[in-house]
Amino acid sequence: MIIGNVGLDSSSRVAFQSHAHADHFVSGETIFATKATKFLSHLRKGGFYRTVEFGEEFYIGDFRARLYPAGHMLGSSGIKLWLENGTLFYTGDTKWFKLRTAEKSRFPRADFLVIEATFGIPSFTFPSPREAEKKLIAFVEEALDRGKRPVLYVNQTGKAQEVMKVLDVHGYTVKPSGRMLKVARVYSKFGIDFGNISRNGDVVLRSYRSPEVGNSLSPWELTVSGFGELKLSNHADFWELMKIVERVRPERVFTVYGFAREFARALRGLGYEATAISPNSVLRLP
Ligand SMILES: [Zn+2]
Repeated sequence: MIIGNVGLDSSSRVAFQSHAHADHFVSGETIFATKATKFLSHLRKGGFYRTVEFGEEFYIGDFRARLYPAGHMLGSSGIKLWLENGTLFYTGDTKWFKLRTAEKSRFPRADFLVIEATFGIPSFTFPSPREAEKKLIAFVEEALDRGKRPVLYVNQTGKAQEVMKVLDVHGYTVKPSGRMLKVARVYSKFGIDFGNISRNGDVVLRSYRSPEVGNSLSPWELTVSGFGELKLSNHADFWELMKIVERVRPERVFTVYGFAREFARALRGLGYEATAISPNSVLRLP
C-alpha cells in the first residue's frame, strides 16, 4: 500500500517492511524495519535497511512515525503514522495472543486502521497458542510411544522456530531443515536460543506443504498452520482481528490480504466504516 510518498509493505523509494516473510519483501532506496526483520530478510535478499526500535519516533518520508510489535514473528511490526488529517496504524501480519518467539503485540489508538484479514471470517477460530501447544505435544507423545518419528510441516521462517521452541520447552529434540537452522541462528542473536537441535531429533520438521496435499499425509505427519490440521497460527483469527479493531478504535478501517472483503463486510455490520483494498493500492484519505 502506498500513502503519500511511502510504501507500506509495498516497494517505493522510501518503504516500510513489516516483517521478514518473502510475500512482504519490498525494494526501495531506504527500507525502514526492525533490526530482526533486516537480519532475517538479508538471508534471502539485499537492500539498504534503516533500522528502527519499537517505540522510537522517526520520520519516514514526510510522516512522523513509530513502530509497535505485531506479534507475528520475531521483529514483526506495525507502524503508526501522523498524517495531516489524523493518525493511521498499519498492521501487516499480526497476532493478538503472545507466541513464544515473537514480541508481545501492541496496538495504539489511531483514526485510520489498515489491518490484514488473512483469516477474516468467523469460521477461522483458532485455539489459544497454549491450547494448540497441548495438542501438538499430545500428537508427538503418541507417535513416539508407538515407535514412530513424528513429522511436522511448517513455514520455515517464523513458524518453524516457534515449533522448535515449543518442543524445546517440553523436552523434545528436533531435526530442522538447513533453512530453518539459518533462521534459528538469527533468532539466537536476539536472545531466543534452541537447546534441542539434533541430527537424530525426536521430531522432524519439514517445509510446509500446501493444504491440498494434507490428505496424503501419514498418521504421524501433521501440518502446523492456520490452514492446516494443527492451528498453532502466527496470524490473528477472526476474533483476534476484532479485538485489534476494538483496541485501535478507528474512524475508518481498510482491510487487506486474505478475506479482506468479508472482514470489511463484518465490520460494517458492527457500524464501522470499512473498505477492502488491494495490497498495492494508493490510499487516499479525505
Ligand atoms: Zn507473514
